[in-house]
Amino acid sequence: MSDFQNAVQVVHDALVKLRDEGVELRVSRDTLDALRHPVVRKKIETPSAAAALPVKAKVSSTDKAPKMAAMRERVLVCEKCTHLASTRTQVVFGVGNLDAELMFVGEAPGADEDLQGEPFVGKAGQLLTKIIETMGFQRDEVYIANVLKCRPDMPAGSTGNRKPTSPEMQTCLPYLRQQIEIIQPRAMVALGATAMEGLTGSVEPMNRLRGRWHEFEGIPLMATYHPAYLLRNQSLSEKRKVWEDMLLVLERLGKPISEKQRNYFLQK
Ligand code: SF4
Repeated sequence: MSDFQNAVQVVHDALVKLRDEGVELRVSRDTLDALRHPVVRKKIETPSAAAALPVKAKVSSTDKAPKMAAMRERVLVCEKCTHLASTRTQVVFGVGNLDAELMFVGEAPGADEDLQGEPFVGKAGQLLTKIIETMGFQRDEVYIANVLKCRPDMPAGSTGNRKPTSPEMQTCLPYLRQQIEIIQPRAMVALGATAMEGLTGSVEPMNRLRGRWHEFEGIPLMATYHPAYLLRNQSLSEKRKVWEDMLLVLERLGKPISEKQRNYFLQK
């Protein structure tokens, strides 16, 4: 019996004793009966603040490989975009470390990537690898993927690449979201305004997006220029902008930054 029930019992017994002794009680019989069978209110469990927060399930390192492999199997045969499925050489799934702290996301495979089946392997990809290495990582320590997994189709005979459309990116985005859920990086970098559009829906130009943190599914997201932009604009000032964005990423990840790294691409 709880303390409360004990107290009610004591009050009930005292009142009954007084009544038996002939004391006029201004308490009805119903009330006395109610005291004999007190309703004990159940404590209402309120969720704690921590329990109320959506907690992302952690994926253990050992679970990551089979999860990603199963997903890869599905994506490699995907034909949701019939026009892309019929023109691609292959699906370009993504590559890198499943335990990566850092993930780079581009817009879509180009001609080189379509042929080789790996994102960022052309000239822009080689520059991205240089940037990654200058940050102090090896390419295989990070994870690299695109919003769109198939090369945007081009008119017959054309060798260039085209920007993926928003509906194409939205159709494919669930796959990238699943990759991110498996990898659970501590930070992400969107390479180019189109990748940012695919991830966040933002249509702002890169000069307004870069240099500050955004978010994708709770993960800090840095926006910076696509390496192809740097190949077209080789000025020190543009390289410095991208590098400053990467310094912010290194700071966010708590990585040591040397004086030499801090000063790359500064105008003399
Ligand atoms: S782009 Fe993505 S959604 Fe479209 S067919 Fe390729 S894998 Fe499937």
